[in-house]
Amino acid sequence: SSSIRFLSRESRADSFSQRAMQRVQVVVRLRPYLAHDDRRAPQLVHVTPEQNSVQITDHSSFTFDAVHGMGSSQREIYDRSARSLVASCLEGYNATIFAYGQTGTGKTYTMEGDAERFEDRGVVPRAIEQIFSHIQEKASGGNRFLVRASYLQIYNDVIYDLLKPENANLQIREDDRSKENTRGVYVEGLSEWVVRSPAEIFKLMSRGAAGRATGKTKLNEVSSRSHAILKIIVEQCETTFVDLQGRSISSEQFEKMLIANAFGDKSPEDLVRQRFRIAKLNLVDLAGSERVRISGATGQRLEESRKINRSLSALGNVISALTDDRGRQHIPYRDSKLTRILEDSLGGNCKTAMYAMISPAGDAISETLSTLKFANRAKSIRNKACVNED
Ligand code: ADP
Repeated sequence: SSSIRFLSRESRADSFSQRAMQRVQVVVRLRPYLAHDDRRAPQLVHVTPEQNSVQITDHSSFTFDAVHGMGSSQREIYDRSARSLVASCLEGYNATIFAYGQTGTGKTYTMEGDAERFEDRGVVPRAIEQIFSHIQEKASGGNRFLVRASYLQIYNDVIYDLLKPENANLQIREDDRSKENTRGVYVEGLSEWVVRSPAEIFKLMSRGAAGRATGKTKLNEVSSRSHAILKIIVEQCETTFVDLQGRSISSEQFEKMLIANAFGDKSPEDLVRQRFRIAKLNLVDLAGSERVRISGATGQRLEESRKINRSLSALGNVISALTDDRGRQHIPYRDSKLTRILEDSLGGNCKTAMYAMISPAGDAISETLSTLKFANRAKSIRNKACVNED
């Protein structure tokens, strides 16, 4: 209501305009041998974590921002490269973490972890814990937060809402950027859920995981052939709201206002919207990068493979265009749904981490090499300007 005015507790944090020019982090992880791996061939892949390097016997050597060997723990992975990215997100930067690699190399293990073993939980649950513990800490200092989540899948180039299975074939839309308060690029009709605790997000995620299987296709098959994007939107306000009597507004009232704002309902409180800081964290489990032998595949399988190849190479092209520091190159976000959806969270004003997963198995060597080359191309994305000012 109009009886609300707000006091700015502190001016906009200056630190986050100063985080300039940081490269995207590219992290390689070699998974341990699994029972079914072919171990007859000699191990051709060697990692030297202390030097952040990977060597392919008699072939090439690559260096990355971090390289983790077979013995690495989930915690190490998170602390080394995800924790600071999530922290930036809590300061207002959009951020994206990708898991890239051939099927069976540990993308899901790294992102989600082992459900049976708490200490082996992956990047996603750890990020969620970090977000909510930050919120808990800051809430006592008067900051107010609203966290929303959405979860989508791109399968065979069709966008599905994993949290509302009846929402299939969703379309990407783009608001006119010259107008105020636009959403930029968004997926029309994708459900967003307000979440108040890690447990609430985990519940949504397991619902979403169940939705990844479609019809008669098994979960594993679909999940290795689709991209899944869990998006967590953290909206916060560093002000203390008081009414005309000087009483502060309760968290419940404030949450109502945030929700009204977030979902675009018209309310007088829209006036304060520009004081909100909003950032998105995208956690992306990509489809398996293995090249399906086009000659062997037929029908739907072939079409699917082509689409996966096309979207991953579009991602590679976007990354490589962003890498080019020389001038303002055209960035081909529009070449795939994957890159389009991530447009506001990749390059430009964002933090990015790419986890490239590789297998030690001798018979995987050509896929391993192609993953390392892809990761190598991603190494030098520069971030330009940085904060979401809306
Ligand atoms: P992807 O998602 O890339 O297809 P998964 O994450 O399903 O691969 O991993 C394949 C198998 O390897 C799973 O059984 C997983 O538990 C195991 N695995 C992968 N990486 C590791 C690791 N770093 N430590 C232990 N087991 C792993």
